[in-house]
Amino acid sequence: MAGLPGSLVPSPFRVQRVRRETYDTFTIELEPANGADGFPFAAGQFNMLYVFGVGEVPISISGDPTKRQTLVHTVRAVGTVTQALRRLKRGDVVGVRGPFGTHWPVEEAVGSDVVVVAGGIGLAPLRPALYYLLSNREKYGRIALVYGARTLQDLLYKSELEKWRSHLDLEVEVSVDTAAASWRGNVGVVTTLIPRVQVDPFHTVALVCGPEVMMRFTVRELESRGIEPEDIFISMERNMKCAIGFCGHCQFGSTFICKDGPVFCYAEIQPFFAKREI
Ligand SMILES: Cc1cc2nc3c(=O)[nH]c(=O)nc-3n(C[C@H](O)[C@H](O)[C@H](O)COP(=O)(O)OP(=O)(O)OC[C@H]3O[C@@H](n4cnc5c(N)ncnc54)[C@H](O)[C@@H]3O)c2cc1C
Repeated sequence: MAGLPGSLVPSPFRVQRVRRETYDTFTIELEPANGADGFPFAAGQFNMLYVFGVGEVPISISGDPTKRQTLVHTVRAVGTVTQALRRLKRGDVVGVRGPFGTHWPVEEAVGSDVVVVAGGIGLAPLRPALYYLLSNREKYGRIALVYGARTLQDLLYKSELEKWRSHLDLEVEVSVDTAAASWRGNVGVVTTLIPRVQVDPFHTVALVCGPEVMMRFTVRELESRGIEPEDIFISMERNMKCAIGFCGHCQFGSTFICKDGPVFCYAEIQPFFAKREI
């Protein structure tokens, strides 16, 4: 993270492309507008994206950490700022502060099996971790991606999911909560897929991101498979404002999500994880 006051001053980035992912979600690609070099980040980190005159929101980086020239975010348009982001066109300029926060422990997981569990938009912050794992495939044991969305229309990155499915050394399990009768895939919440995953629970690192209720049930299911709380990592995406631990908006027990998270080891936040607002 850049030091103060730099971390409070947004840098200008120009929109290269806005790509529709689903009816309410899009991927926005940005490049530095001031000719700056690429944008190094670690999988799991986020930026504050500022739409001038509208506001600023935290959004995880969803691109490939080895492709530093283009900064990629996948955004669900839910309110004022995210809808303004969706209206941006190629050539428009946004402010970027970051990268902020902790990252997925992909390097620490070398030698282990890895299970990635994503719910809905939660696949976006996990995608950089998947890129990393796949580009260093030989360093890991089994790798499984377990992904659930509400409906087929809510599934992100469909063509990429198909590509990942074609990898013989990556297990991909996808489910939707509800589907039309013509869907021949899995129907049910994402946790129902976890028992199928072929990993060695004593040598597995789990990376989890999605709605909090989904993460709670996922953690429970992972623990019942024998995966220890120390080996489960979750990304908490609760509302925040400053991203540098000043304003207290995102205080979570004794930690701040912006600077101590968003990626936490479950063992460390277990006592207050189940509380709705803390
Ligand atoms: C670390 C972090 C990473 C994030 N990464 C992504 C990402 O990759 N993609 C993405 O689409 N979103 C992400 N979010 C959520 C995103 O920041 C919010 O959706 C955004 O701030 C909403 O702003 P808005 O002005 O569009 O909506 P507002 O007009 O402020 O709010 C619209 C509605 O969304 C609710 N809301 C606002 N923020 C959140 C939140 N963080 N969690 C739950 N509900 C919220 C509000 O209470 C309100 O009901 C992330 C949040 C955090 C903290």
